Amino acid sequence: MRVLIVEDSPADARLVREYLSENGSQPEIRIATRLADALEIANEAALDAILLDMSLPDAHGVEAVRRMQAAAPRVPIVVLSGLEDEAIAAEAVAAGAQDYLMKSHVDEAGLRRALRYAIERQQLLDRLAASEARLQDENVLLRRLTDAAGRVFATLDVRAVVGLLAAEARRLWGGTVKTYAGERRQPDAFLNDALAARRPVLAEDRMRVALPIPGTSGRNEWLLDIYSAGAPFGENDVFALDLLRQYVGIAIQNVALFGELQSQRASVIQLNQLKDDLIALLAHDFKGPLTTIIGFTELLEENALEGEDAQGALKSIRQSAVRLANLANDTLAMSRVEQGELNLEVDPVNVAQIVQDAVEALAPQRALDFEVAAKDPVVRGDPPRLRQVFENIVGNAIKYSPEGTPVKVRVSETDRTVRISVQDQGMGIPSDEMRFLFERFTRASNAKRSTIKGTGLGLYLAKTLVERHGGNIQVQSTLGEGSMFTIVLPRVRDGMGGVLRVLVVTSDENLASYVLHELRSHGLASRRDKTLTAALERLEAEEADLMIIDCDTITSDLAQLFKRARREKPGIALIGIGSGDAAHPSDWDATLPNPFLGSDLQRAIHEAGRRHIPGGGVEA
Ligand code: ADP
Repeated sequence: MRVLIVEDSPADARLVREYLSENGSQPEIRIATRLADALEIANEAALDAILLDMSLPDAHGVEAVRRMQAAAPRVPIVVLSGLEDEAIAAEAVAAGAQDYLMKSHVDEAGLRRALRYAIERQQLLDRLAASEARLQDENVLLRRLTDAAGRVFATLDVRAVVGLLAAEARRLWGGTVKTYAGERRQPDAFLNDALAARRPVLAEDRMRVALPIPGTSGRNEWLLDIYSAGAPFGENDVFALDLLRQYVGIAIQNVALFGELQSQRASVIQLNQLKDDLIALLAHDFKGPLTTIIGFTELLEENALEGEDAQGALKSIRQSAVRLANLANDTLAMSRVEQGELNLEVDPVNVAQIVQDAVEALAPQRALDFEVAAKDPVVRGDPPRLRQVFENIVGNAIKYSPEGTPVKVRVSETDRTVRISVQDQGMGIPSDEMRFLFERFTRASNAKRSTIKGTGLGLYLAKTLVERHGGNIQVQSTLGEGSMFTIVLPRVRDGMGGVLRVLVVTSDENLASYVLHELRSHGLASRRDKTLTAALERLEAEEADLMIIDCDTITSDLAQLFKRARREKPGIALIGIGSGDAAHPSDWDATLPNPFLGSDLQRAIHEAGRRHIPGGGVEA
């Protein structure tokens, strides 16, 4: 124990020293007779306690206590008072002394106890002060964290959230903060380790913390590299940083959720708009044809129309009904498109064939100039959908051009594309309106002013369908002179050459869907007919390389039809499925038992290809 005795009376000082030194304890004792000397000693030596007389030559009473305390704020002071005045002693305690002793009453045990208590009390006070300071620091940290969390939660952009965190770290720890995009390899091993650890990592010297932050994907997308400007990072700091990181994790999830919500909201708004548009369309566009139908049927019921008038009425009714049917089809197709329910077949198909079908369907309305300048205009696609597109574009060309003017339809090909162009000499389209025509319900101003009926759905559907086929649709037009729509589709480069076209003939629905599925999943273009007659009819218009005939269900005149097939379509390989005589091996290029496996089918196709199609056959 190191004690400073401040006492001007040598006798008193000696007595105190004796009291303290008894029982073999060896306190380190220094004695000052004046306050000035005491202050000097306190300044340079480490002390555990000070015994201070309150009447010194250079200081008195409470003032001596104050000055002593100012010089040694952490050392407990026990006042020795010669005055029999408790009031002054109490004042001394109020001024900072730990205790007081009356010189006249003090004994050895009392003095030692007083000193020990004073020291312990002082130590307690010191500890209290330290923990209060720490608490205050933590309080500041917590308040800032809460603040930061508030701001982080209110931020709805990931980059901004991370920026906020970096700024917050800089504010709290005052050093430098670098942000890295995570996951990639980082400039040093410390950062790489932190990325692998997925939590804050403290450097050995405690002056640097790396903080990986997960992004919306849940992977570590960001990395904060924080250097302390002053004191080393403590456990509290790391804890706080981890808390911040967790806040940010939640905030980033919020960002993702918010984004999802926004897009859901947008699509709800869009669907709502679509619904409104549809209702308006139904109210408006269905009314016209219905009025015509109801009006004319009433007149016909009343026998009010005869001869040519009656014929004319019937024609109007039919046209109105066709218009309603088209409207219903378009609306249905659109709602499928909007709901993402449009499933397209992707077999290779000859586009020229489909365009020709569309042209033929529309031929009664206008003489069409149709030309195919392509050898192998094959695309992967869905024939009915493609036909819908061509009918719409060719139909528009007819609809928006005067009767008698030519409409040209051309199919051509380049190395990579098949192009279908449709050109008319009609009203044309105002140039600034062209690019909007492919939006739903959009019609050009000149069309709206005319008496030509329309809904503005056709081009929207055509564009959607063409794009779903990997193609695009373009328009060139001159107002008052005419328009040309061009559809460009990606071409299957080896045309049908590389893909076997298979025609399956069976009346068994289960077998049909099984075989078609097998064929398509092996990349073969396949069609199906229920009778051999229908199949032979189809072969008038469509090419095929292979015919698979189910001899167990196609029984009528099989032998005769078989001969006909061989005679009329010598290039087609024939595979028979069945158990009876009809499937006699020598007549067929390959046969299959019934039932059979997918691998049997592939083997039979391979065999038939090898025997029949020059250079043909596919790998099983
Ligand atoms: P609809 O013909 O039912 O109005 P579409 O979506 O098929 O709807 O066409 C949208 C608009 O594009 C038409 O209303 C018309 O203004 C314009 N349009 C389309 N094809 C032609 C064309 N060949 N000539 C002039 N305008 C056309």
